[in-house]
Amino acid sequence: MKEGIHPKYEKTTIHCACGNEIETKSTEKDIRVEICSACHPFYTGNRSRLVDKGGRVERFKKKYGM
Ligand SMILES: [Zn+2]
Repeated sequence: MKEGIHPKYEKTTIHCACGNEIETKSTEKDIRVEICSACHPFYTGNRSRLVDKGGRVERFKKKYGM
């Protein structure tokens, strides 16, 4: 049985531009995205605030008990 044929699915973290981090499994490490499930609905119509680092997300989490 040869090794190295199948990519390994390992625990990885997706880093969003909004400061949110999502744990998932992937063959890639350190995935970076500009938008995530936390900020996508949140920033609808307010895309210019994407560079905001975490502040709004923290408030979002508190509001929804995350
Ligand atoms: Zn995000």
